[in-house]
Amino acid sequence: MSAALRSLLDSLGVQPSRKLGQNFLTDDQSAQWIVRQLELSPGESAVEIGPGTGALTRHLHQAAENLWLVEYDQRLAAHLAKTYESDPRVTVIPEDAVKHDFRSLFPEQPLKLIGNLPYSCGGHIMIHYLMPPSPFTRAVFMLQKEVAERVVAKPRTKDYGAFSLRIQAYWRPKMLRSIGPAAFYPRPQVDSSIIVLERRAPGELPIFDHDTFDRLIRQGFSQRRKQLKNVLAPLSVDWEQVGATLQIPPTARAEELSLEDWIHMARLVDDHPLKDNPQKDDECFDVVDENDVVLRQATRREVHANGWRHRAIHVFAFNKAGDLFLQKRSHLKDAHPGVWDSSAAGHLDAGESYASAVVRELEEELGIREREPEWIATLPATAATGWEHVHLFRVDAPKRLRYPCAEVETGAYFPVEIVDRWIEKRPQDFASGFIECFRVYQKSGGNRDGITL
Ligand code: SAM
Repeated sequence: MSAALRSLLDSLGVQPSRKLGQNFLTDDQSAQWIVRQLELSPGESAVEIGPGTGALTRHLHQAAENLWLVEYDQRLAAHLAKTYESDPRVTVIPEDAVKHDFRSLFPEQPLKLIGNLPYSCGGHIMIHYLMPPSPFTRAVFMLQKEVAERVVAKPRTKDYGAFSLRIQAYWRPKMLRSIGPAAFYPRPQVDSSIIVLERRAPGELPIFDHDTFDRLIRQGFSQRRKQLKNVLAPLSVDWEQVGATLQIPPTARAEELSLEDWIHMARLVDDHPLKDNPQKDDECFDVVDENDVVLRQATRREVHANGWRHRAIHVFAFNKAGDLFLQKRSHLKDAHPGVWDSSAAGHLDAGESYASAVVRELEEELGIREREPEWIATLPATAATGWEHVHLFRVDAPKRLRYPCAEVETGAYFPVEIVDRWIEKRPQDFASGFIECFRVYQKSGGNRDGITL
């Protein structure tokens, strides 16, 4: 196998590069076994990082519905493109995986991720693809053993750190087995390990604000020998209160805290006023007729249970590139849990105007203040809008958005063409009211004169 591989590399003019972590797998049995661990079911697609000469690819190709191959080495990428040129199910992406903009893959779910990762940047590649929002449900990686051990590390071990926690907060990693240098050409100087990661199910862990969690663990492990009460001081963490609530001894260091401890700490430290309220059950709405004329007031529960017409706003927030921010609703929401929705959306309180509701929702859901939202369309109350008369607005968003974790699980900016294709392919990923708004937004041409349906 290794002779055939060598002659292929020669013919491509590839001298295996250490910088690119080019240690190619020569053991086909192992390659088959690794691909099996991805557990691809019919209809599921895969992304392979660093396919190289295609040791895993040839097995994946048989099992995956569609396949994307992200290979940085242009000669290898060209070779793969030639090999699979007659198969439209295979797309070669000749790019650096750490910078690969994979937002266009969200419409292609269900998706799984695999790679015999280059030693040089395996950790960065993992973070790039696995941090939320990620379109993948399962990932199998071969990595330098030392990095794999950090991914699965438990508290009170030397391998346990911010990297372990960042992955474990969203994924359940498991070490599968190790492979020695003899299975590769050229032989690496270290052992490799294969790990599998399964995305955590909604509700498996308490909800938490991802940014707060990230800030805490980075700071906590920045000086791992120091006691947390000192290391976390720059973040103004009230250690007396946090330590007492979490029952952590005052001398504790970062590596003594479990994932659950860090999450609880993030929940305590998060000062978002709505962090615990997925919805307000005691809200009172105006019940309106088909012409949006107020008839009377009723509670949120009554309005929804009886399908009475009421009022809501949706806002589309755009960044400088013109991409639309979508929020993924928290699994705790009583309506449309866990699906993608407008940048911000919400009901009008009884007596509230559309104009003041949009300002309130922008602040509550995205932390946007002092921006002028512009009205772009009015939608009548129908079953598709959940019997809401909707006023749709747009706003130019600042760089940093801040959302309450009880309402919003995560969010990201997507180019409008991708959202369009995503809705077309997978309408089940979206709240129906958002789909209505998006179609109306497209009809309005995104222009600022507005339309009324
Ligand atoms: N999958 C092949 C195998 O198992 O034989 C090759 C694995 S080799 C360890 C790593 C591969 O990743 C190489 O093909 C290398 O060119 C590619 N690579 C290195 N850095 C990369 C990056 N930043 N983005 C994408 N591919 C990269």
